[in-house]
Amino acid sequence: MNLLPCPFCGTAPISEPVDSSWVVGCTNENCHASPVVVAGRTEEIAKTRWNGRAPGLPLEVVLSEENDRLITAIKPFAEVARHDIGEDEADSDLYRPMTNHNKAPHLTVGDFRRALDAIAKAETK
Ligand SMILES: [Zn+2]
Repeated sequence: MNLLPCPFCGTAPISEPVDSSWVVGCTNENCHASPVVVAGRTEEIAKTRWNGRAPGLPLEVVLSEENDRLITAIKPFAEVARHDIGEDEADSDLYRPMTNHNKAPHLTVGDFRRALDAIAKAETK
């Protein structure tokens, strides 16, 4: 039976006999939940227990929360640009962050328009 990775850090687990039973556990010392160990009378029982996972949140809930997070992240940038958006989609004069000091990409009118469109679409749902 293949073992699923640690549910907390993704590290491949170990499986080994200890005394009269089997244990499966995470080997990552930096794992917040380490050592996560499950035991069983037999190797199969220990591995089956390790691989048992609670069902995740419905995909719709996960995506909705991610959508909210992304909208919150881009909204301040789009609001700053809202009053300065012109008509030229390729116009990169709108915002040039420290152009002379680094290689930051230039944001175009199209970038800001897409951000505003995404926010408007999300807020109508
Ligand atoms: Zn782990």
